[in-house]
Amino acid sequence: MFRGLLIDKQNGQQTAAVQMLSDASLPEGDVTVRVAYSTINYKDALAITGRAPVVRRFPMVPGIDFAGIVESSYDPEFVIGAPVVLNGWGVGEARWGGLAERARVPGKWLIPLQSPFSLRQAMGLGTAGYTASLCVLALERHGATPDKGPVAVTGAAGGVGSIAVAMLAKLGYDVAAVTGRPEETDFLTALGARQVVDRAELSKPGKPLEKERWAGAVDVAGGQVLTSLCAAMRYRGVVAACGLAAGITWPATVAPFILRGVTLVGIDSVMAPPAERLEAWYRLAADVDLDVLNRLIQEIDLDAAIRVAPDLLRGQIRGRVVVRVGASS
Ligand code: NDP
Repeated sequence: MFRGLLIDKQNGQQTAAVQMLSDASLPEGDVTVRVAYSTINYKDALAITGRAPVVRRFPMVPGIDFAGIVESSYDPEFVIGAPVVLNGWGVGEARWGGLAERARVPGKWLIPLQSPFSLRQAMGLGTAGYTASLCVLALERHGATPDKGPVAVTGAAGGVGSIAVAMLAKLGYDVAAVTGRPEETDFLTALGARQVVDRAELSKPGKPLEKERWAGAVDVAGGQVLTSLCAAMRYRGVVAACGLAAGITWPATVAPFILRGVTLVGIDSVMAPPAERLEAWYRLAADVDLDVLNRLIQEIDLDAAIRVAPDLLRGQIRGRVVVRVGASS
């Protein structure tokens, strides 16, 4: 038996509680992992609160990522005792995830813990950090170098946003942190942002093309914010779109794409191929300062996860929430 957070749905009513779970309930898979840490990403908060239909079958252990130690393995790539990390692949949505002391997955979904990170630091990054890294790689792939001009990061005080700000600043970009929380200005400046922009500026409808402002952008918001970003891109600017914190629809025109050659790149972390995942983690290892990362982490225990999820959806959490699952404190 092991402890885990279980979401269930009976007669249309969703419940979430920490309880004892049996090994027999774990899904099929060739590697069993003793989970040390997991995290609360935006999607986990949606799953735990039931605010959006993230969970595809019940009962479900949420947690789209985890870091832990291999406990048993039929995969020659992962020996017993190896430290491993998992992001996505539908874990915590379609099959039991990281918010439990034990997880079982196909070995091909795991990656080895990357030096210099501890298991805790790997989850300090978690899916948010890995997604931020995929966004940075997308900007680079499409030519957004630091000399081209400022880059904007939306949701800058949240998980993906804060790590994107820190990475881009370390790489020498002139980063504009877009936030709805002006009180986080000192925090964002400490991460390396050179300017802080009020999210309200990007939240109201404007013209199809605005004054050229950004050479690149990482967007976690979608909705009107994504529209405003695209309209204010410089000629041949690049927008990496990964989120929907402001909305899943966006009232766009094609003007930025056909008149300024703007590139809009979609970022999906869940099913990204293994080589891209590894590249993203290599870049996190190279481009995230450990002191900065440690300052982003807020650690909670499994019981607190249910309480914190609604706060995260209200945009009240700064940086990253790491959940201590099986690790001793
Ligand atoms: P967080 O909750 O940590 O951060 C989200 C941030 O978005 C908030 O902190 C807030 O930042 C900002 N925000 C909140 N409400 C709004 C709004 N109405 N308009 C604009 N900005 C808003 O979540 P994550 O960083 O974990 O995830 C961010 C987004 O990225 C989510 O939509 C998530 O689903 C998506 N995502 C997508 C992935 C993918 O594979 N495509 C992977 C991981 C995440 P501030 O107060 O600074 O404005």
